[in-house]
Amino acid sequence: MRARIEGDLAEREDEILAEFDADVIVNCTGLGAAELTGESVYPLRGALVYAHNDGTRMPRINSAHCMAYDESVGGQNMVFIVPRGANLLVLGGLVEPGEWNTELTLDNYPPIRQMLSRYQDFLPVLRDARLATNPTVRVGLRPARTSGVRLDHQPGTRIVHNVGHGSSGVTLSWGCAKEVTRLVGVVGGQRIAGQRAGRCTDRPEARPAILSASAS
Ligand SMILES: Cc1cc2nc3c(=O)[nH]c(=O)nc-3n(C[C@H](O)[C@H](O)[C@H](O)COP(=O)(O)OP(=O)(O)OC[C@H]3O[C@@H](n4cnc5c(N)ncnc54)[C@H](O)[C@@H]3O)c2cc1C
Repeated sequence: MRARIEGDLAEREDEILAEFDADVIVNCTGLGAAELTGESVYPLRGALVYAHNDGTRMPRINSAHCMAYDESVGGQNMVFIVPRGANLLVLGGLVEPGEWNTELTLDNYPPIRQMLSRYQDFLPVLRDARLATNPTVRVGLRPARTSGVRLDHQPGTRIVHNVGHGSSGVTLSWGCAKEVTRLVGVVGGQRIAGQRAGRCTDRPEARPAILSASAS
C-alpha cells in the first residue's frame, strides 16, 4: 500500500492507524520527517558517475578504491571507486550539505567533472574509461539529521522513529531494522494487551504501518 502522509504525525496517529489497520506506525521517512515530526533533517547531496568496466577500453577494475571524506583538507576529497555487477564501475562521492537540486549532469554542474578528473589523477587508467549512458550520472540526497540517527519509541504514542541515517543507511540498516522490530513488538504488545484487557481482539501480533516507500 502506498500513500503520502501529510500533517503532524503524532496528531494524526489514531487516524493513520485506523486507515492502515495497524497497531504501530514506523516512521522511516528520511527527509520527509521534517514535515511530519519537525525533525532537523537535511540533505547531503551526492552524485555518482557510471563507467563501463568490461576490460575493453581500460583494464578491468576488480577492487574497490575508497578514501573517507577528510574535513580538515577542505573541498571535495573523498574517493569512492567501486565495481558494481558484471560490467559497471561506480565513481561517486560528492558531499554537499543542504543542497536539494538533483537535476545535475556532467555538463551543467562542474563539480561532477572535477570529481571525475580527481579520480583520473588518483587512478590514471580511468582516463580511458568509457562512461555509461542511461544513466551517466545519478544524484541522490542522503537524509542526514543534525543530531544523528533517531531510533526510538515516542513516549505516549504508538510511533517508532527510524530516521537520520545520512551517509550510512545501508551499513546501519541491519542493526536498525532489528531494533525497530524489537520496539514494534514492545509498543504493539502494549496495545494488544490493552485491547485484551478492555475487549476481545483476534490480533496475534503487532502490525506496523511503515512510512517509507523504497530502498535506495
Ligand atoms: C549519494 C549517496 C551515497 C550513499 N552512500 C552510502 C554509503 O556509503 N554507505 C551506506 O551505508 N549508505 C549510503 N547511502 C545510503 C543512504 O545512507 C540511504 O539512502 C539512506 O540512509 C536511506 O535512508 P532512509 O531509508 O531513511 O530514507 P529514504 O531512502 O530517503 O526513504 C524515505 C522514504 O520515505 C518516503 N516518505 C517521505 N516522506 C513521506 C511521507 N510524508 N509519507 C509517506 N512516505 C514518505 C519517501 O518517499 C522514501 O521512500 C548513500 C545514499 C546516497 C544518496
